[in-house]
Amino acid sequence: MCSVQDGEDVIPERKKTGKFTEGERRPCMKCGESAAVIIRVNDAFCRGCFLTYCTHKFRSAFGKSKLIRDGEKVLVAFSGGQSSTALLHLIQEGLSERAQKKLRFIPSFVFIDEGAVLNQTQEERSETCQQVAALLQQSGFPWNIISLEKIMQESNSLEKFELSEQFESLHVSEKDQEELKSLWNSVKTLSAKEEMIRTLRSRLLVSIATAGGYSKVLVGDTGTKLSIRLLSDVAQGRGMHLPFETGFADCRHPEMKIVRPVRDFTAKEVAMYNAFHNLQPLVLPALTTKAASNASIERLTETFVTGLQADFPSTVSTIFRTGEKLSVEDMDSEVDRCQFCQAPLDTNVPASSALNATLFSQSLSQKSSTSTIGGASNCDKTDSCCGEGDGSCQTQKDFRLTKEDLADVLCYGCRLVIKDMNSVDDLLPANVLQSAAAAVRRKKMKDEIQDFLLPS
Ligand SMILES: [Zn+2]
Ligand SMILES: [Zn+2]
Repeated sequence: MCSVQDGEDVIPERKKTGKFTEGERRPCMKCGESAAVIIRVNDAFCRGCFLTYCTHKFRSAFGKSKLIRDGEKVLVAFSGGQSSTALLHLIQEGLSERAQKKLRFIPSFVFIDEGAVLNQTQEERSETCQQVAALLQQSGFPWNIISLEKIMQESNSLEKFELSEQFESLHVSEKDQEELKSLWNSVKTLSAKEEMIRTLRSRLLVSIATAGGYSKVLVGDTGTKLSIRLLSDVAQGRGMHLPFETGFADCRHPEMKIVRPVRDFTAKEVAMYNAFHNLQPLVLPALTTKAASNASIERLTETFVTGLQADFPSTVSTIFRTGEKLSVEDMDSEVDRCQFCQAPLDTNVPASSALNATLFSQSLSQKSSTSTIGGASNCDKTDSCCGEGDGSCQTQKDFRLTKEDLADVLCYGCRLVIKDMNSVDDLLPANVLQSAAAAVRRKKMKDEIQDFLLPS
């Protein structure tokens, strides 16, 4: 029975003094002046010491990893939000002559215009791009704006990609627009859409970077964002990929490393950094803007983590440090990869595994359905045989990638993304289909000759 009386306050009372005013009365832990910000439970900083602390943290991330060499060209993904605004400013400061330990890489910036999947009109998209263009123009670095639609083009279309101040966005062909739209509409749940856009975005960044001769992509993922991702990835069956999704460097792509230099910053630190420097991040719509707090797994996790963080300020760092314990050994270039997200394949497991048990019960519960993916299918593909008619040669005359075939070369998380699609070979980007088809053929051939191979 509820014991709250009428008129009684059900919400636990917050401290009367807001964190800011309370902070002002505290001394800075470095210099003793009155503090302007409290970043963790007891760390109070004045403005100057806080900014020094941020700069130091940013530099040491590069120093510790020794990942980026002097004079190396890096591509920085810029979204206009809080963390990329801070990232842009930290890079600017780090490269300036007055910096103590000068950063020595050569950055170029790229903004991916995702208006197509956010249901924006052409005018809205163009307005967003102009705002971004104004910000990037000010920075003085080379920059470019690319539309997400580019991902639908053949893999070599970005071949001669050079970053310079230009607006690519409005030159998207209608065919690409339509193709991206049908791919997008074929993904039914918001959770799957979030995964889809994340993978498409990162594939596009990698191909832009490869085409432009870069070897690293810098992204502005904060510790807060990565903690949320860590938990939501576990919930979505991507546990095996955590070191790639949340580590300092994501080395799933053989030729391209994705680096997260602001990973040691919380969202609050980044926001304070921007506020102290009078930087104005853009407020751009995202996929889950205005969506209910339980609209997707990631959104729900976000609500959970940020809610917890508000009352227990060490939440993010606890989740984050726990994830840190997971590491990945240098990836063998021979390892089988998921043909969509490029992470190592977690679905090529023995018959007696949790995954196969799940698939088995799934196939039992959807007995009549033909859309079961990745299950132990005993399909008779005699109609597509090359001529014998008995299916003995297992060769298909006209190779069309089916959903089941594709699922075979995808990780568990990506299988969930394509789960609701009716067909895949007319929806997914051409370069995904090409590499997937090659992987499927290789796998089939390997299976066929398996019995004749000597055990290694
Ligand atoms: Zn101070
Ligand atoms: Zn995958």
